[in-house]
Amino acid sequence: MNFSTRAIHAGQEPDLETGAVNVPVYLTSTYAQESVGVVKFADYGRGDNPTRAALETVLASLEGGQFAIAFSSGLAATDSMLRTLSPGDRVMLSADAYGGTFRMLTKIFGPWGIATDVVDLSDVDAVASSWREGTKLVWAETPSNPWLRIADIATLADITHRHGAQLVVDNTFATPYLQTPLALGADVVMHSTTKYLGGHSDAIGGMLVTNDADLAARLKFFQYAVGAIPGPLDCYLIMRGIRTLAVRMDRHQENAARVAAMLVSHPNIERVWYPGLENHPNHKVALDQMRGFGGMVSVEVAGGAVRATQFVEKTKVFTLAESLGGVESLIEIPAQMTHMSTSGSLLEIPENLVRLSVGIEDAEDLLEDLHQALT
Ligand SMILES: *Cc1c(COP(=O)(O)O)cnc(C)c1O
Repeated sequence: MNFSTRAIHAGQEPDLETGAVNVPVYLTSTYAQESVGVVKFADYGRGDNPTRAALETVLASLEGGQFAIAFSSGLAATDSMLRTLSPGDRVMLSADAYGGTFRMLTKIFGPWGIATDVVDLSDVDAVASSWREGTKLVWAETPSNPWLRIADIATLADITHRHGAQLVVDNTFATPYLQTPLALGADVVMHSTTKYLGGHSDAIGGMLVTNDADLAARLKFFQYAVGAIPGPLDCYLIMRGIRTLAVRMDRHQENAARVAAMLVSHPNIERVWYPGLENHPNHKVALDQMRGFGGMVSVEVAGGAVRATQFVEKTKVFTLAESLGGVESLIEIPAQMTHMSTSGSLLEIPENLVRLSVGIEDAEDLLEDLHQALT
């Protein structure tokens, strides 16, 4: 079946007993046992929940994976994946990865004995030459955040597997509608379901998807034994978002392309970063591996931090806020907001960079808003 049909039906058959067309929100922490140790579905809510299972089923289907494991946030998913490593191992991380991923690796897993090498993963030669004894995991974010660089997933998977390591792709920006990393050779797909999958800025969640049964069993064990599980209502909200993912993404990228085109010719904008632009350094790779260019646009504002701050504070339709991927347009300054934890590091972002999460409002209103805020 095709994408939207799976988004709406996978794991979401009408309830057998009542015929309800929506998966019920199973608010239960425990389950009645038929006799000691004999259970119908599960024995305790941390281990399994039917609403959570439905969400895992639909996202596994969309990513083309056999196993999906849901977490209480994107970072909780990242944490469980990193727990598969041992002290002495190394992680190779995208040069402009999500700030929280970098923070977790350096502040939490660093002291625990996991080293991190920050590499521009869109540069295949840099990946090959930065490989170190002990590199066990490559953590790629593509499109990356906030530069929207594109890493060639199939090539990365090749290099990674030749070294006996595993490739994780953070697919939060692209979503499975635009890119399916497992089909390109990645071992694991990670999501912050908080963003486009949920799509309405009303729930926080994370997910790991894989076809590796042994790895899935370990991750499932971490979900249960560490306990960073999403609540059933959040699972329901994210699943409801997923049902409209395709139509939302179509509109997000249509609007983003128009915003990018307008900003390219604006005198107060020095540079626009959008993978759909022909002058984007990785445009060709994006064309090959993605089914669209997504809804995120980054720009460098002329006049430095002062003008960038004026710009983001003057918009009326674009809300000044962190996060992305909701129906509403958001605008932010990574150096002062989402990427503060990278200050002084190799991942530091220039002060005049502004990141736009282009929503699904009417394009004319978005263009007019950006126009007035830039003058
Ligand atoms: C938001 C985000 C995360 C972290 O997810 P949370 O749900 O906020 O914990 C990780 N990666 C990317 C690309 C993100 O945008």
